[in-house]
Amino acid sequence: MMRWKVAADARCAPTERLCAHVAHAAAGPPAEARGCDGCARAGTRWVHLRECLVCGYVGCCDTSPMGHARAHFTAHGHPLVRSAQPGERWAWCFHDEVLLVPS
Ligand SMILES: [Zn+2]
Ligand SMILES: [Zn+2]
Ligand SMILES: [Zn+2]
Repeated sequence: MMRWKVAADARCAPTERLCAHVAHAAAGPPAEARGCDGCARAGTRWVHLRECLVCGYVGCCDTSPMGHARAHFTAHGHPLVRSAQPGERWAWCFHDEVLLVPS
């Protein structure tokens, strides 16, 4: 299981901010990125994929036209996502707007 810690703020500057959610986030090995279900249904394209650390939902990033990962946070209140891009090891808290890295 992978544990996470706060790394920096949105501009990658060191931060004193805390994320209360990270204590509850544990993740196994990244899932093979299957694609964004929301985009598959709507017939839209995504740029990058994010995986919810609470329930495993895969949605597209803020750069993608539909932003399904953020929409999932808004709808379900699951704040933590990690990058589902191959080779990337970081996560993000939508609520606290902090970058998380493996601890
Ligand atoms: Zn948080
Ligand atoms: Zn999408
Ligand atoms: Zn979720």
